[in-house]
Amino acid sequence: MRLLLFGPPGAGKGTQAKRLAARFGIPAVSTGDIFRANIAQQTELGKLAKQYLDAGAYVPDELTNDSVRARLAEPDAANGFLLDGYPRTAAQVAELDTMLAVGGHVLDAVVELSVDPEELIHRLLKRAQTENRTDDTEPVIRKRQEVYAKDTWPLLDIYGARGLLRKVDGMGDIDEVTERLLAALETPAH
Ligand code: ADP
Repeated sequence: MRLLLFGPPGAGKGTQAKRLAARFGIPAVSTGDIFRANIAQQTELGKLAKQYLDAGAYVPDELTNDSVRARLAEPDAANGFLLDGYPRTAAQVAELDTMLAVGGHVLDAVVELSVDPEELIHRLLKRAQTENRTDDTEPVIRKRQEVYAKDTWPLLDIYGARGLLRKVDGMGDIDEVTERLLAALETPAH
């Protein structure tokens, strides 16, 4: 099973990615988590990525692509993976296509989790009180929403044209959304 999970910041991708990955026995790979772990450990990648995360801007494609390529080469991803937060640019879509082609693999599905814009801001401001993410301040939250809408949301057309896209309503409680996602993955794409 090779899956992509799309959605704006605050849509619940991370939470749902972990649940789906556990259900399918595949790793959930989050580029945001990879960058945050590298920042915490003060690696070279972390030092380079920090300024972008703090500004709510995308990390340059080459750094991001290299990180994902290395992660997907690990043994636990050999039989499948769920990518959360990647690809986010056209160059990343192209790079992922290459990575898949090299292994002779294809994507099984691409899921878009959608949530009302006001609810997104509300959720992220709430998360700011419990988690210590440096990018969960209101101006950076708004910036991340803009970047998603401008740079990433249009990429869904590519996967729609390939017949892979499934849209799932991300409003409501966590269990309810997981059930919707599982149901969407069981039905053919439209
Ligand atoms: P969110 O979706 O809430 O913004 P993430 O944890 O997915 O949270 O991402 C946090 C930050 O990590 C992004 O704002 C960006 O700086 C960086 N990042 C994550 N994924 C990518 C990507 N595919 N390309 C470039 N930057 C990324």
